[in-house]
Amino acid sequence: MIILVINSGSSSLKFKIFNSKGWNCLYKGIVDGIGLKLCHFEGKNYVNGAKTSKQSSIKNHQEALKYSLGRIIESAVITDLKDIKSVGHRVVHGGEKYYKPTKITATVIKTLEKLSELAPLHNPANIQGIKACQKLLPKASNIAIFDTAFHHTMPKEAYLYALPYKFYKNYDIRRYGFHGTSHKYVSQVARKLLKNNNRIITCHIGNGSSIAAIKNGKSIDTSMGFTPLEGIPMGTRCGDIDPAIVFYLMEKKHYTTDQIDDILNKKSGLKGFSGISQDMRLIWEKVKKQDEHAILTLNLLSYRIAKYISAYASTLNGIDSIVFTAGIGENAWYLRENIINRLKYLHISLNKSVNKEAIYPKSPIEISDKKSKVKIYVIPTNEELEIAKQTFSQINRK
Ligand code: ADP
Repeated sequence: MIILVINSGSSSLKFKIFNSKGWNCLYKGIVDGIGLKLCHFEGKNYVNGAKTSKQSSIKNHQEALKYSLGRIIESAVITDLKDIKSVGHRVVHGGEKYYKPTKITATVIKTLEKLSELAPLHNPANIQGIKACQKLLPKASNIAIFDTAFHHTMPKEAYLYALPYKFYKNYDIRRYGFHGTSHKYVSQVARKLLKNNNRIITCHIGNGSSIAAIKNGKSIDTSMGFTPLEGIPMGTRCGDIDPAIVFYLMEKKHYTTDQIDDILNKKSGLKGFSGISQDMRLIWEKVKKQDEHAILTLNLLSYRIAKYISAYASTLNGIDSIVFTAGIGENAWYLRENIINRLKYLHISLNKSVNKEAIYPKSPIEISDKKSKVKIYVIPTNEELEIAKQTFSQINRK
């Protein structure tokens, strides 16, 4: 079966197309800058290795999908759009209602629209992608795969906030967790690598970052919460802060809600703190030149990640393995080394030379040394493949 996977963001549409026979990716592409004067398209044909780079004016998600489908047909990886039997959509927020791959119907769309209140930056864009597929691929089944789903197994003590209980009952204010597809994928790979790998901490560190505690294949805690703002510092998000800072900024400094939202989500994290960039590579360039603030940025991030790992060591009552994944986790060897140096009390140790070479890995790499009591892995994430597989299993469930 040919499965299209769509990850639709506010101004971008990313896609991959898979054949369920062997699970090969046939083509991947991204349309970036939807609604801007000029949109960039990057595509890669995995059948013949050809790359495409184009510019066009694309006003909305439907036009972006039409353009992408045109490139797919042009590439000849499939001959007819009717070959696409199903589409798996990454949907960020499933709330308490959706925690399984879900066939998209008019009722599901209505519920997702309601859930947009909880994820105003993400769900509306995801819905745009769904509607575009319904229009342009009318015969294909659309399946939603939720970022929150994998964390559905968290116990109450982990997902409830110590707020008046009625806030949970009346307004659904609780911790949901995100990046679930990635945490699920890499933890499953880790479980295949190691027998009795029952207590895993997965560190998805990219532009957005989160850590999860996984016991016997189930998420029992994760660092993101009601929104993706909670947890460790990210590219531009602040992660955990004292909420009283918000009142201080509003009352004493007269910031508006929108300004604070912008500061915490878009101007903080690596970008705001370092004053250099949200891109770890540029911070590392300055660290190499002994820039003190860049060194402090790296230490702050490492410290905060090590603190979460230590907390989850208690959540899991010990650790069998730690997994690093996503753009920073898979590549920033110096961050991994800095984090593991802070965890020596857990009898964890790194094979420093293997760790240093583990950059852009194509397959899992063990970076712990022989005497380490905890296995440490770098595992490239593949959220799209996981979405495709879950879509396939939903279609074949009947
Ligand atoms: P997203 O959350 O958008 O999916 P990614 O997981 O792709 O993000 O991570 C993107 C980030 O990965 C970049 O902003 C950059 O900081 C980091 N990154 C990418 N390549 C490298 C590298 N070679 N070394 C260090 N960091 C990298």
